Amino acid sequence: MTSTLAGGRAARRQTMRRIRPRRSPAVPLLLAVGAGAAAVLWLWWGNTPSIGDDTGRIINAGRITGLLAGYLMALVVLQMARVPALERRVGSDRVARWHAMTGRYTLCLVLAHVVLIMWGHARRAGLGLADIVRQTTDSLTQLPDLGKAATGTALLVLIGLVSIGGVRRRMPYDTWYHVHLMTYAAVFLTFWHQISTGNDFAVRPLAKTFWYGLYGVVSALVIWFRVLTPIRLNLRHRMRVEAVVEETPGIVSVLIGGRRLHRIGAEAGQFFRWRFLAPGMRFSSHPYSLSAAPRPDLLRITVKAIGDHSAGLRGLRPGTRVWAEGPYGALTASRRSRGKVLLVAGGVGITPMRALFETLPGAAGDITLLYRATTTQDLALWDELSAIADERGARLMYAVNSPDGARPDISAETLQRKIPDIDRHDVFLCGPPGFAQAVYEALRGAGVPARRIHHESFAM
Ligand SMILES: Cc1cc2nc3c(=O)[nH]c(=O)nc-3n(C[C@H](O)[C@H](O)[C@H](O)COP(=O)(O)OP(=O)(O)OC[C@H]3O[C@@H](n4cnc5c(N)ncnc54)[C@H](O)[C@@H]3O)c2cc1C
Repeated sequence: MTSTLAGGRAARRQTMRRIRPRRSPAVPLLLAVGAGAAAVLWLWWGNTPSIGDDTGRIINAGRITGLLAGYLMALVVLQMARVPALERRVGSDRVARWHAMTGRYTLCLVLAHVVLIMWGHARRAGLGLADIVRQTTDSLTQLPDLGKAATGTALLVLIGLVSIGGVRRRMPYDTWYHVHLMTYAAVFLTFWHQISTGNDFAVRPLAKTFWYGLYGVVSALVIWFRVLTPIRLNLRHRMRVEAVVEETPGIVSVLIGGRRLHRIGAEAGQFFRWRFLAPGMRFSSHPYSLSAAPRPDLLRITVKAIGDHSAGLRGLRPGTRVWAEGPYGALTASRRSRGKVLLVAGGVGITPMRALFETLPGAAGDITLLYRATTTQDLALWDELSAIADERGARLMYAVNSPDGARPDISAETLQRKIPDIDRHDVFLCGPPGFAQAVYEALRGAGVPARRIHHESFAM
């Protein structure tokens, strides 16, 4: 694919700007989230003149957990909205981790809220265990919106269960993705009881306006970025499969043509979620990174077959319509803070690294790529990488298992021996979790500061 080298030169010229990393907005964002939580507690405080006894304490703990759960639920949806500023500056995998963590806290708060409110009201009415069940059933049928809230809570529990690491890993991506989409329904169903039965909103119009505003803004962001923006992008660029090329056994590249693709705003290192409008694939949208710099008329992804979707790409026919959402991801040249860069790829993690190897600005000797694979036959895209290395005077190294199956030594000492000034490099890293963790530790041992190790995970 020599043509991508020409694309690479153009992309390098475009990105040849002053090397200045974007600051991660994690701290300001955390402060903003904390300020929002404080405002929510203030709502409760302002509406609670006094708490008399233990029963009052239990009910008030139920109110606080309910309010905080409602607030975090809005954040969970915000993290699903794929707001470009968040995806590009924080990184999609980090947003996904925050989303998973916020989701866990939300579910715990929701369950605590349910238990505390049921328990508190039962104590106040002097009820026994059997009566609690009857009282809860009565409340669900008689109080406004509580039935919907119960259905929403059941959905949240289901989503929480399929998100547990062990369950998630055994589940096809598509199943997990579609169950996860039910979060929107769960949030919608639980929202109304907060307004109609929540003491803090029923009697305070300002609080109610604030709550509608919070959920309104989040809903608008979801509709804008997850529905309208992709429709606009796909109508404008009208992408189709141009060709499918076998790279190594089990790995194919899909070339995707379209109109004015240079205006799509993608950078090397980023990914899209791709939906191919072919039989059996229409309802699946999967993330794959660009494996070459975007060209005005062509994008390329390179995919390893591990399940239904990735294996199905081999059978795509030229002309198949493509629906893409993106670009997403923060593993781009803008992360770089130094002149020298080491790219480390493990297995199919080579895809974003291949695009960065082609486009990162740098003089001869500035860029090094270390590619880990099981055997030399598994080094997908090797010929292209060699051509790029020759063209720009970059270093290309690989590490494969020895003939007896022993893993190569990628320790701090080896890295220092191969790249003596490694502590003065930025490192971009992409590979399977175990490999990425081992390389991260070796890099730290070799003196590379954590802030200069830029990692993106393919885990979802
Ligand atoms: C940001 C991002 C960028 C990616 N870029 C690329 C790319 O450029 N090239 C590429 O080949 N892949 C890439 N992936 C991974 C790719 O999206 C998945 O391999 C693919 O979606 C799996 O779908 P499937 O239907 O083929 O397999 P499934 O049927 O969903 O999965 C089969 C089995 O593999 C496991 N599995 C699924 N996905 C992963 C994963 N990501 N890591 C480890 N185990 C998994 C499942 O739990 C299941 O056990 C990327 C992932 C992310 C999040």
